[in-house]
Amino acid sequence: MGSWWLAFERRQEERARRDGDAGEAPAADVRIEVADKAGACFGVERALRLLEETVASSIGPVRTLGPIIHNPQVVRELEARGVDAVDRVPSDTPSTLVLRTHGTAPDVKAEALAAGLTVVDATCPYVQKAQRAAEELAREGRTVVVVGEAGHPEVEGILAHAPGAIAVADAEAAEALGIEGRVGLVAQTTQTPERYERVSRSLRERGVDVSRANTICLATRERQEAALELASRADLMIVIGGRNSANTSRLAALCAEVCPTRHIEGTRELDPRWFRDTGLVGVTAGASTPASQIESVVSAIEGMV
Ligand code: SF4
Repeated sequence: MGSWWLAFERRQEERARRDGDAGEAPAADVRIEVADKAGACFGVERALRLLEETVASSIGPVRTLGPIIHNPQVVRELEARGVDAVDRVPSDTPSTLVLRTHGTAPDVKAEALAAGLTVVDATCPYVQKAQRAAEELAREGRTVVVVGEAGHPEVEGILAHAPGAIAVADAEAAEALGIEGRVGLVAQTTQTPERYERVSRSLRERGVDVSRANTICLATRERQEAALELASRADLMIVIGGRNSANTSRLAALCAEVCPTRHIEGTRELDPRWFRDTGLVGVTAGASTPASQIESVVSAIEGMV
């Protein structure tokens, strides 16, 4: 455990003492602190910038293949501006298709180009790195194993770059599949290094020849560490981001382990009662939450306390 844990324990003791004196305690002054590294990561900022540039310069409708990022508020705002998220390659031209941050299968991109669409690839460069690694490992004749969440668009995109590739959630899942021979081990970018290592170790212990491409992106880990540090000192954590965003939900779950936590998608969900008798309110946000959403949540809380 890091120093945040010791701080958390001290905080728990203070809280318990305060709860014991609840009748006499004056209402605390509410302070709001935003975690370091909260909100949009490099890949999300880049995708949104590319989309803005595309909307400004395109002839014909601009659409995204799937939601550009896992953030319903951003997706609704884009829809209101005429930028729809579609689930298959459209056929009308001239039009532009923007490929989402999580990436897609190579044949989908080829289909869009063949249909005469303008394609703007907003796949995060780190996801592209994972896709290329899967491609190269498959070319070496290895079975590609992706440590990640089956069905997640990023994982599906990586799998599509390597024929015969499989996704495993953890070491137990890899063991249950009885994988043998030569394996190329790739990670979904948001996986924890620990999980990736456990899968790698369990395969090697069973005699599998493993070639590793650790494609984990540090953005998720950095947000988690900063959020936990703040949660260890806070009375209440507000975590902002899409409920469909895996990294935001994980952030909220981690904060909830050390501090009362509310996961919200926007200001409308805030309840002034949450801030009664609260000293420090910590605010953090997942990697798919733009800075503007953090700012509006902070000012809405300021208006409530
Ligand atoms: S979390 Fe990492 S891999 Fe995912 S979009 Fe952000 S920078 Fe890219």
